[in-house]
Amino acid sequence: MSEVENEGTLRKNINAAKMIVGTVKSTLGPLGRDKMMVDAAGNAVVTNDGATIMGELDVSHPGGKMIIEGAKTQEALCYDGTTSTVVLTGEMLGNSEGLLNKGLHPNIVCNGYNQAAAMAVEYLESNLSLEGQVGMEDSDLKNIARTAITGKTVDAALDDVAELCVQAVKKAGSAEKVRVLPLPGGSLRDSYLFNGAIVNKMPVLEKELERTQHIVLINTGLEPHKTDENVTVQLDMQGYTQFKSLGEEDLLLQAKLLVEYLPEGGMVFIRDGAADHVCTYLDKQGISVVRRLPESTMRALSSTLGVSVSQTPADVECSAKGMAYSERHYDVDYLFIQGEIESDQSTLVLRGATTTTLDEIERGFDDALGVVSLVMNGDGVVAGGGSAYAAMAAHLRTQAASVEGRAQMAIEAFADALEIIPATIAENGGHDPLDCILNLRHKLQNDETDFGPNIEDGGVISMWKIGVIEPTSLVRQAILSATEVTTAILKIDDMIAKRGE
Ligand code: ADP
Ligand code: MG
Repeated sequence: MSEVENEGTLRKNINAAKMIVGTVKSTLGPLGRDKMMVDAAGNAVVTNDGATIMGELDVSHPGGKMIIEGAKTQEALCYDGTTSTVVLTGEMLGNSEGLLNKGLHPNIVCNGYNQAAAMAVEYLESNLSLEGQVGMEDSDLKNIARTAITGKTVDAALDDVAELCVQAVKKAGSAEKVRVLPLPGGSLRDSYLFNGAIVNKMPVLEKELERTQHIVLINTGLEPHKTDENVTVQLDMQGYTQFKSLGEEDLLLQAKLLVEYLPEGGMVFIRDGAADHVCTYLDKQGISVVRRLPESTMRALSSTLGVSVSQTPADVECSAKGMAYSERHYDVDYLFIQGEIESDQSTLVLRGATTTTLDEIERGFDDALGVVSLVMNGDGVVAGGGSAYAAMAAHLRTQAASVEGRAQMAIEAFADALEIIPATIAENGGHDPLDCILNLRHKLQNDETDFGPNIEDGGVISMWKIGVIEPTSLVRQAILSATEVTTAILKIDDMIAKRGE
């Protein structure tokens, strides 16, 4: 393959990647705009969330796909910071184009970028990051939640929302353990933390639920065994009746075991199905059956009630006491279950006017719960608003000259790319990005490393002072992912060139 064609492939990859970046760039920061994504059937998603936009994009170009992978990694590891990762990747790629134009080989660019990323992360961790502690102040945690959630349609109730996130993670210990239930109707301010599990299923035979119940949790055992579809069994009429009644009796025996455990009646939550006649029998004995529950719900019930999930009725060791009551929201009945023990299980009930806004609120909560959980579990914190990126850029510029050869140019280009984060936040706020960057550089000259864009007046302001803070790993991972995707895209071209096609 000729050098010209080789260049063409690389440019095509870079352009495809930059197009993706163009779609999300305007959503970055507290004043970022939302995107409405519509599919062929006319279903719309309105969102400001980078990960969601990336997930919904219909991209076929491999260069674009790699950018999306980078965003997904960020989401999986850090819950937040996806748009930053994508914007940073776009800028790094854009700047590498300039270097290629000047005659640098892609390998030199990759080498310089990798060195720059290592230096930047080292500086971030040792100079900019404050150690997070397990017992961090609630007000700091609240600020972390606020920073993650600003700009996600919840601004009106930002304080309440941030408070709720901190409470939820503190109670559960980590973001994964917080269950979130969006209930349409009402306003965001009506959202609350329910100390227990909520199930969107009702007992098979509905009846007035007494508040305190004896409860048993089982996995299987109340429906006939599923026969293998590939097996044919031939039975005469008599044989069939015997076969059928054997199965049914067996089930009733299992059900009787439950009655022994719940002599005063109660509730059975079952992961699998339960045959109708068994439910009717149990109902007559004062036992309501809630069947076909997802595994995550069974786990939540188990930790709410402090009782393990038994495999079959024969394995039940004890029942637990809990309160159950139902509420109806938008034509759907929900069962609220609260244990009598102190448990870390809680459900965040989110209220919002419509399902579309509620979806976006939920995404904001997911980000905020995640970052609070990162810091509560020992991650460090840095000033937000892109201030850390600007500080790393300034540091890299002072270090670039210590590197020999052309890689030095790549390090400088990398430093320039980092400044895209504060610049874009300012720009999306309707301010001049160049002024913002120049002001930040001026502050950094005096070692004021925590200044970021003031979205109110277009100037710069201390991010610590206004409480815009975020987990260090968010910034670290954004840099590592962006560098990896950029260098991978630059390298793809090498591979094509070597094949000589
Ligand atoms: P991402 O998907 O990268 O998280 P966001 O749209 O959520 O993108 O924007 C996050 C950026 O906005 C972070 O750099 C964060 O520090 C910054 N930010 C949040 N609140 C403010 C604020 N009040 N002023 C300036 N920057 C802010
Ligand atoms: Mg965010």
